[in-house]
Amino acid sequence: MTDTGSAGNSSIGAFGPDISSARLEAGDYAHVFDDLHPPLSRHEAFVESDRCYFCYDAPCMNACPTSIDIPLFIRQISAGNPVGAAKTILNENILGGMCARVCPTETLCEEVCVREVAEGKPVKIGHLQRYATDVLMAQGMHPFTRAPETGKHIAIVGAGPAGISAAHRLATYGHQVTIFEARPKGGGLNEYGIAAYKTVDDFAQRELEFVLKIGGIMIEYNQTLGQDISIDALKAGYDAVFLAMGLPGVNGLGLDGEDAPNVLDAVDYIANLRQAKDLSALPVGRNIVVIGGGMTAIDVAIQTKRLGAENVTVVYRRGQESMNASLYEQELAQIHGVTIRHWLQPDSLECNEDGTVHSVVFEYTENTDGRLSGIGEYLMLEADQVFKAIGQTFDPEPLRGSGIGLSKGRISVDGEGRTSVEGIWAGGDCVAGGKDLTVASVEDGKIAAESIHAALTQRPQAVEGFAEAVLSGGVHHSLARETPVKPANWLAGEQG
Ligand SMILES: Cc1cc2nc3c(=O)[nH]c(=O)nc-3n(C[C@H](O)[C@H](O)[C@H](O)COP(=O)(O)OP(=O)(O)OC[C@H]3O[C@@H](n4cnc5c(N)ncnc54)[C@H](O)[C@@H]3O)c2cc1C
Ligand code: SF4
Repeated sequence: MTDTGSAGNSSIGAFGPDISSARLEAGDYAHVFDDLHPPLSRHEAFVESDRCYFCYDAPCMNACPTSIDIPLFIRQISAGNPVGAAKTILNENILGGMCARVCPTETLCEEVCVREVAEGKPVKIGHLQRYATDVLMAQGMHPFTRAPETGKHIAIVGAGPAGISAAHRLATYGHQVTIFEARPKGGGLNEYGIAAYKTVDDFAQRELEFVLKIGGIMIEYNQTLGQDISIDALKAGYDAVFLAMGLPGVNGLGLDGEDAPNVLDAVDYIANLRQAKDLSALPVGRNIVVIGGGMTAIDVAIQTKRLGAENVTVVYRRGQESMNASLYEQELAQIHGVTIRHWLQPDSLECNEDGTVHSVVFEYTENTDGRLSGIGEYLMLEADQVFKAIGQTFDPEPLRGSGIGLSKGRISVDGEGRTSVEGIWAGGDCVAGGKDLTVASVEDGKIAAESIHAALTQRPQAVEGFAEAVLSGGVHHSLARETPVKPANWLAGEQG
């Protein structure tokens, strides 16, 4: 049985897909990707910080992959010390500004907030984190100083969150770092992937500049491992290597017609959108079908809708509860007028005479004893553009012959990020078991940097002692007194 669905009313067959730029009025583009959440004012931050119970053994801290001392930084905000709060955040997470904007807090720190559990209204941890880090960055200061040069030089492949995080910590310890980055700009998916309305005002580049202020980090752009440089050369030329290449490939649908010009990788489209100088020049379909159930699917759906697409439908093969996109993200899509359909898997692409696709046929699915199968009933959705958002893949080609072990198609590492080859570490999305979140990649970079530092200096790992060792001076007002939640001995003498 086939039903023709209701994704839209585009012309089928001979007329070709309805894809057009400038779907909005010229004056509307200035605001189309405005900040999703406007920043808190000083007063709002103060009031919100007052809602925190400053729990002992706070559950939010355990839920944060970078273990930021959340009660402490919120207490610092409530004491009128946002710069001190920012230092507390950046000490554990040097990309705390970006994470404040992009972390799915509803499934991390805020999900377990005592106020969420009791009242269904958590303390706005992400917003407070953004407030504090914005205040510090606006002052143009860098809160860390470098230890004396060690003479060690580390190569990092990839200038995304994992690479930048590792580079900063290694530089802080006095090592030299060179990052080899395939693209012409740094930031990884912060620059090329994250939805435009989450990171406005060129924040990814501003944050990268802020991180580089530590000194000792050089980025070599347009340098691709496997083409311009080799693993052997890095191993021979550096004291240690950290691989942080993310997931450059995308999964295919495996259907005839997939190469049609109006069947697109969602990640590529978002990258073009993020780099577009003139959004009105970006072609967007009238009727859009997005295949997938994760953050990428939701992001491309919302952004095409904001660019003026009329009907946008996200189609996922399982039920709502199995979607990787959080409930909050799903609701955000629905608020934007995006339709989300479940229990449908792509069956075929219907093409026009010129080879473009005009519709996608889906088969209804069901879950029987944990196995997903089609039930022989079909739905056709008209589409001027089809977006594939069914996951990204690691490209092992640059590692060929290196002996680096893989697991489930990604790099296999131990708890410290060590690969199977001595002297080579890896972290972020490119490693097996990765959580595919910005904050998790930052943590991977931090852990690997600690492990590299320990290996190069034959010292035990010192994540706990990091702040004591390197956090530089600032405003001289100890918060240890006003912070009963933690001994916080690292604050002594430096904190503001
Ligand atoms: C569309 C999209 C939206 C997302 N939204 C969110 C979100 O809202 N919140 C969230 O927490 N997470 C989000 N994520 C996930 C998050 O962006 C990633 O988990 C994170 O960026 C991974 O960091 P990374 O450093 O491991 O890799 P990346 O950010 O992918 O960086 C890898 C870098 O390595 C470079 N590189 C790759 N191959 C080579 C090579 N051979 N030689 C040299 N350089 C190379 C790349 O150019 C890139 O700069 C999103 C992901 C996508 C795709
Ligand atoms: S980094 Fe993310 S998870 Fe951790 S406290 Fe900040 S917003 Fe929450």
